[in-house]
Amino acid sequence: MFDLKDLYQEVIVDHNRSPRNFGKMDNADRVAEGFNPICGDRLNLYLKLDNNRIADVSFDGSGCAISTASASLMTDELKGKSIVEAETMFNDFHRMLTDDKPHDMKQIEQLGKLAVLLGVKHYPTRVKCATLCWHTLHSAIEGKKTPVSTE
Ligand code: ZN
Repeated sequence: MFDLKDLYQEVIVDHNRSPRNFGKMDNADRVAEGFNPICGDRLNLYLKLDNNRIADVSFDGSGCAISTASASLMTDELKGKSIVEAETMFNDFHRMLTDDKPHDMKQIEQLGKLAVLLGVKHYPTRVKCATLCWHTLHSAIEGKKTPVSTE
């Protein structure tokens, strides 16, 4: 039997071990800082915008495996997306991590690679680790100056 759960874990371990788009961006148009006090995850998000599109995105900081893997997966998905598409993705991802209803295949497909993180919904404190990078992205898009906290 093909075990989907193991595959998901493997993807998370891989993205934690070698995070994509990790590093400071010197010519970023937007920078935002996020903090999850429950777990101690900290990250900085860097955005390069081209009109209303995300031309480039990177992150740095230190956090647990879930927060690092989530930021790695998120930055991979976001490149080339419009800001509206990015915000829609955030809303879908957040909703699926916080509602109790079972997901249908269509919703899961729409999430693409981010679906590997759906397992964390059974661990409410881990949901904050997985969504920290998204809250930070939202803050970067809005151009907020104060650091984001999940609390
Ligand atoms: Zn964490």
